[in-house]
Amino acid sequence: PLVLVTGASGYVGASVVHAFLRAGYRVRGTVRKQAQAGAWRYRLPQYDEERLDFAIVEDMGREGAYDEAIKDVEVVVHTASPFFFGYTDNERDMLLPAVNGTLNILDAAHRAGTVRQVVITSSFAALQDYHRGPDPTKVYTEEDWCPLTWDDAVKEEKDQVLVYVTSKKYAEKKAWDFIAEKKPAFSLTTILPVYVIGASEQPLQSIDGLSTSASWIREFIDKQELPKAPIHAMVDVQDVALAHLRAVENASVAGGKRYLVAAHSFSGSEVAHILRQAFPEQHERFPDAGGEPGWDKEEPWKWDTSRAETDLGMRWKPLEQTIREAAEQVFEFERRD
Ligand code: NDP
Repeated sequence: PLVLVTGASGYVGASVVHAFLRAGYRVRGTVRKQAQAGAWRYRLPQYDEERLDFAIVEDMGREGAYDEAIKDVEVVVHTASPFFFGYTDNERDMLLPAVNGTLNILDAAHRAGTVRQVVITSSFAALQDYHRGPDPTKVYTEEDWCPLTWDDAVKEEKDQVLVYVTSKKYAEKKAWDFIAEKKPAFSLTTILPVYVIGASEQPLQSIDGLSTSASWIREFIDKQELPKAPIHAMVDVQDVALAHLRAVENASVAGGKRYLVAAHSFSGSEVAHILRQAFPEQHERFPDAGGEPGWDKEEPWKWDTSRAETDLGMRWKPLEQTIREAAEQVFEFERRD
């Protein structure tokens, strides 16, 4: 079967492309520029056009954006969504592309007539109660929905994370509404990862190409001060990709469901400790853990990933391995440059 992966140039998208190729699927990736397709070809010469091809979708927010890319596709994995900060217009730059991109891919899939399943990369953001204070008794599950409204996000002047969070909520919500209203022939599954880290499988020219969360590990290299974890829950990028693949391989159970994917709680001191242990010859390049590893861990909420474990057979990569692989990638770039 031919799988269309949107946002193939992205951090999560690239690992999704690799996961489906490794599992033997034919993959079509959407990228925004021809050069990104060229970079993939260069990186993966072992796959010919028959196994891996690309469609250019410059702006998924434009109506009909995916009409060409959808031809002959049986499965869609929609990872593309704006995930960057420093934009100027909340609605134009974040909310609308996220929602319209999602509606455009669903609409294209609906009209194509060949698609049997759509998997969308949503986010923990879509279920977290963003303004809720620390409450260690709170256990997030797939039943939860982020209570922020479109208006909250449009009016927000400072907190760009809040706007991103709202864009993810509405992108997912509108997708479920689409299914309820249009009753398409395909099923929908959504994957909701917490903070994604780990070595990137993007065809990168330089380390500066690493996206927002992929580059988080760099805050620990040649830095004195101990960084804080952005949120206390992480998942490895390859586990996220695997969850998408397993959703397709178990379509009959996964159809119509959301899956929260989260592996471990973590903190800055734990990451610093892992780095010092894993790379003893470079230990002076990492900040000191500043005490017993884990001393700085905050656990304002818990989560339940039993649905992903039961339905999709998910087992989580150990934190030590994720951190080691991410740092090794940075060192590899250093050796290359
Ligand atoms: P990236 O920024 O690396 O990937 C985003 C992808 O979306 C890129 O390929 C980007 O293309 C594409 N894209 C963005 N806007 C548009 C647009 N208007 N038209 C076409 N393509 C567009 O981020 P991630 O890989 O981290 O994110 C991938 C998905 O995972 C997103 O849906 C994100 O919300 C979700 N997610 C990520 C988490 C994380 O911690 N990283 C956590 C939870 C969910 P280009 O690179 O060319 O701009």
